[in-house]
Amino acid sequence: MSPYAFGMATHPGLVRENNEDALAFDAASGVAVLADGMGGYNAGEMASAMAVTLIRADLAHWLLHEGAACSAAELERAVRQAVQKANFGIYNAANGNPQFAGMGTTVVVAVLHGAQLVLAHVGDSRIYRFRHGALAQLTHDHSLLQEQLDAGLLTPEQARFATHKNLVTRALGVEPDVQVDVQQLPLHEEDILLLCSDGLTDMLDDALIAATLAQPRSLQARADALIAQANEAGGRDNISALLVQAKAKSEFSGLLARMRQRP
Ligand code: CA
Repeated sequence: MSPYAFGMATHPGLVRENNEDALAFDAASGVAVLADGMGGYNAGEMASAMAVTLIRADLAHWLLHEGAACSAAELERAVRQAVQKANFGIYNAANGNPQFAGMGTTVVVAVLHGAQLVLAHVGDSRIYRFRHGALAQLTHDHSLLQEQLDAGLLTPEQARFATHKNLVTRALGVEPDVQVDVQQLPLHEEDILLLCSDGLTDMLDDALIAATLAQPRSLQARADALIAQANEAGGRDNISALLVQAKAKSEFSGLLARMRQRP
């Protein structure tokens, strides 16, 4: 029995033939990873699949063998190193195989570890937290658009209609080294985390995402609803959503007690 509830869904959208998004949740270790790949032919799929597979395996293994009583600083370091190792792996694959030349991917990582939450990201995929009915964006996009917003060159209203929304300023697989933003936050039992690709957030505004997350349904049903609404809004890109919540301790220990009582 996992101490987490989760739901996830991905869809190519209504315009693109391929789905270059990838996502996974490791329920044993509380590691969630989502990536949005880029590159010709099937290279984008390869880059995002590599990022998700490598980071999930690396962190699940580390948490199992070293991480049970790790400090927040040790966990942050492990997350940063896992992303950097995946970057180097994708970079080498891109440079060693002509069919994968130039591939890259965004990545967002969330590790739920007791009352701690460690996040990492590169690119314009995002992590949001839904707490007490309020949606908060926890990551800051590495994109040209975000840089222009930060510099005051564009207003948020102008940004909504910008044509270069998908130009990222950082990605995995492009250089042998990558700068990874890592942060640590307290995790509350009722928090729901949303990891998503830009195909979701370009189609749905925060109010609609928050209204969907507030629905009294399973996390899987809510993830499916987010995808359906992004497609109803046009589905111009691949769409992915991963929802995860640490189950309330009382609920979880109650389940454990019932399991122990079985003959
Ligand atoms: Ca995308």
